[in-house]
Amino acid sequence: VELLRILTLAGPNYWSVERPNLIVLRLDLEAKSELKTADIPGFHGGLTRLLPGLESHHCIPGHWGGFLEEVQAGTSLAHVVEHIALELQYIAGMNVGFSRTHWTATAGIALVVFEYEQAEAGRVAGRAAVHLVNTLAQGQDYPLEELIQDLGELRQIRAEAALGPSTEAIVRECEVRGIPWQERAQGMIQFGYGCYQRRIQATQTNFTSILGVELAGDKEGTKRMLAEAGIPIPHGTVIRREQDLAPAIQAVGGYPVVLKPLDGNHGRGITLDIHTLVQAQVAYDLAVAESRAGRVIVERFHRGHDHRILVVNGQVIAVAQRVPAHVTGDGTLTIAELVAQVNRDPQRGEGHDNVLTKIIWDETTESILSHQGYQPGTVLRRGEVAYLKRTANLSTGGTAVDCTDAMHPENVWLAVRAAAAVGLDIAGIDVVTTDITQPLRATDGVVVEVNAAPGFRMHYRPSQGLARNVAAPVVDGLFPTGVPHRVPIIAITGTNGKTTTTRLTAHLVKQMGKVVGFTTTDGTYVGDYLVEPGDNTGPQSARLILNDPLVQVAVLESARGGILRSGLAFAECDVGVVLNVAADHLGSYDIDTIDEMAKVKGVVAEVVRPGGTVVLNADDGRVAAMAERSRGRVAYFSLHADNPILRTHRRRGGLAAGYDQGELWLYQGDWTSRILRAVEVPLTLGGRVPFMIANALAATLAAFAQGVTLEQIRQGLRTFTASATQTPGRMNLIPVGAFHALVDYAHNPHGYAAVADFVRSWHEGLRIGVIGGPGDRRDEDLVQLGEIAGRVFDWVIIKEDDDRRGRSWGEAAELIRAGLTQTGTACRWEMILDETTAIRTALSKATPGSLVVVFPEQVKRALELMRPDGHGLPAQP
Ligand code: ATP
Ligand code: ATP
Ligand code: MG
Ligand code: MG
Repeated sequence: VELLRILTLAGPNYWSVERPNLIVLRLDLEAKSELKTADIPGFHGGLTRLLPGLESHHCIPGHWGGFLEEVQAGTSLAHVVEHIALELQYIAGMNVGFSRTHWTATAGIALVVFEYEQAEAGRVAGRAAVHLVNTLAQGQDYPLEELIQDLGELRQIRAEAALGPSTEAIVRECEVRGIPWQERAQGMIQFGYGCYQRRIQATQTNFTSILGVELAGDKEGTKRMLAEAGIPIPHGTVIRREQDLAPAIQAVGGYPVVLKPLDGNHGRGITLDIHTLVQAQVAYDLAVAESRAGRVIVERFHRGHDHRILVVNGQVIAVAQRVPAHVTGDGTLTIAELVAQVNRDPQRGEGHDNVLTKIIWDETTESILSHQGYQPGTVLRRGEVAYLKRTANLSTGGTAVDCTDAMHPENVWLAVRAAAAVGLDIAGIDVVTTDITQPLRATDGVVVEVNAAPGFRMHYRPSQGLARNVAAPVVDGLFPTGVPHRVPIIAITGTNGKTTTTRLTAHLVKQMGKVVGFTTTDGTYVGDYLVEPGDNTGPQSARLILNDPLVQVAVLESARGGILRSGLAFAECDVGVVLNVAADHLGSYDIDTIDEMAKVKGVVAEVVRPGGTVVLNADDGRVAAMAERSRGRVAYFSLHADNPILRTHRRRGGLAAGYDQGELWLYQGDWTSRILRAVEVPLTLGGRVPFMIANALAATLAAFAQGVTLEQIRQGLRTFTASATQTPGRMNLIPVGAFHALVDYAHNPHGYAAVADFVRSWHEGLRIGVIGGPGDRRDEDLVQLGEIAGRVFDWVIIKEDDDRRGRSWGEAAELIRAGLTQTGTACRWEMILDETTAIRTALSKATPGSLVVVFPEQVKRALELMRPDGHGLPAQP
């Protein structure tokens, strides 16, 4: 089995609209395509010994063990690759389930499709699966060490990609609500799109005030603000010299006191419950060492338990009592043994990767134990508690007990005021009190600190008590009810007319005064300006638009290449437009028939959200049929007033647009409104280009569905021209002296036929064509281009692209000639392979009133030749 290509899809795609994350392996089974697992001695045994978990793979839904039964009975090696790739990821802790194997039209070539959680892990699993199957297929055993290595790599990728616990909680909440997210920079997550996007970094949001964060980081400043608001705080002072220690202790009211660095965190450098000057001097050295400013806080010690109150947007969301790392005696084990036992708890991990964190035995532990009169070897009596850390941080092994429902209402009110005083949307208020169910005033409790970016783990997964969904109120604050999370997305696909329709739709939406971001084959635009030139019809350019904070509406040309190579950039859209499906690009990416191509383009129809609108061409059977698979409201357009699909749809009260006797119409059930006469729509060249009328109808429906008024649509249609500047290469009709030149970028039979309709309507002078076709198209497509040209032109010059896309010089041109001559028409022809020479020759042959149609490889170069100062012009007589 040879691995020919790996594709990583990350959006709705050909295989699945709901499962965006898929790996597609293109496998060459060579001579082994007929080989079945049952014919390989030891295959089934070797496989099940290595991966016994394959037992749970169904194949047929609900049929446990189905896959292994097939292996035993005989199935293809590609099918085995598929299941191993899933199983490896699953063992490494990733939740994947979707997969399938597809045989292409090319003999021996299979596509194996399977889900991933981490793209890199998916690719690694795919490669390992191929290797594993090849080894077993040769009758060898796959070494266990290699499997262990593969799994280790997968686990590592998973661990590296994991989000922090607080971030993870917020991301999951957004997923539940269907809000898209992406990690834009290390740790910074963006939710939603365009001007509605929001961002977080851990538990700070784009609403979190930098002033609030700075104030919270300044313990003295915070205490002053709280004290001035009448919120109880530990009385204290700041010193910068050890000599000031004794007077400071006096000033705060004597022992017991606390010493801590002015600008510390995570409990570093803090000593609590100091009773003597000697203790205080030791504590001073600890604290000053941890302070960047070299300043130390001396404050009164308040007896009690540590509590963390989480305030989000002015509301108390959760309260946890935090207990420092400790062990409880059982009458037999020593303290050291008890710690080891506690650390064996599977809930305890390293850092923040689990509910709790392992207790690390360090100097603090030793000193705090001796403070309590213990040694590591002390055997505690049953129920006797020994503390191992000074502070209750989860990250040093502390535990958290939820007590949200028990807190006294007066304390709720105090916490809300404390968060507001500091100016934080999300704040963790640290309170020390003997009893949180009583007002702080009654217990001599105090607020010791206000934290910005408080951790969520202790509330989200407390070690005791009710777990609280603290992420929900954060997301409520980011996206209040009624506020959208993303800009409207209009996605446009089809074989021909995408760019024109995209530009026109963008132009219509702009009439609303909105900032429109759009992508096309010519480039990516925001508002009136080009962001990036290039063939930008894939997910990368779409993402640029969707991530732009200024964009209010996105209009995205969504071509087949992007859908096949990566999937769409968005999970759903508001309006999906499918213009037509014709033979073009067949044979590439294993899409070999028009029906398969229709399925590719149908992805756009399928991602229309319920309540959105899918705009479909009623004149194209394959496109019209997409209505069945779309969840959106259907809007049809047709060039024929008597189109039966359009008629039925109108009778049922549907939205539609049509063309009747020179006029463009909008239909909403019984209501009909005239949009404009075709002669008022410059894009249609006075109504002479039917396919441009179709594009105008499609754009009209898309804009109308998005809330653009009919009057704005009219204004937009009147002012949008197929000029060389607004839509270069799309039906640019240019006066050249006494005749006209038409520059059009058609490059497949369907596009040629569309232009041919216009050429037929030209009755003056000669009809001259300069024709060619891209070399990567199929032979029969090139032959057909010649046939179409032969039927409408009086004179044809066949030229060739500079980029021959894999064909030899003159090969594509020869196929076109073959098509042309077999029509048997009176059309004269000659072959001039160089495009510039070909165009110049054609222009020089034009008689007054003639039409010279050029299908150029490079639109810009061709247009230059038409300019008055261009060199293509015939010499003035
Ligand atoms: P963290 O980063 O974990 O918040 P920190 O270095 O900012 O720690 P503080 O929050 O000021 O330090 O103190 C850590 C813990 O020490 C408090 O949660 C509390 O348990 C205890 N503590 C601090 N000051 C006092 C005090 N005056 N009286 C009693 N306990 C105190
Ligand atoms: P590409 O695949 O190159 O991106 P596209 O789908 O974006 O093409 P346009 O650039 O808008 O299409 O138009 C290319 C050519 O296709 C036009 O110049 C015209 O010849 C033809 N064309 C445009 N609209 C239609 C249509 N609705 N039906 C058939 N042909 C069309
Ligand atoms: Mg603190
Ligand atoms: Mg295009």
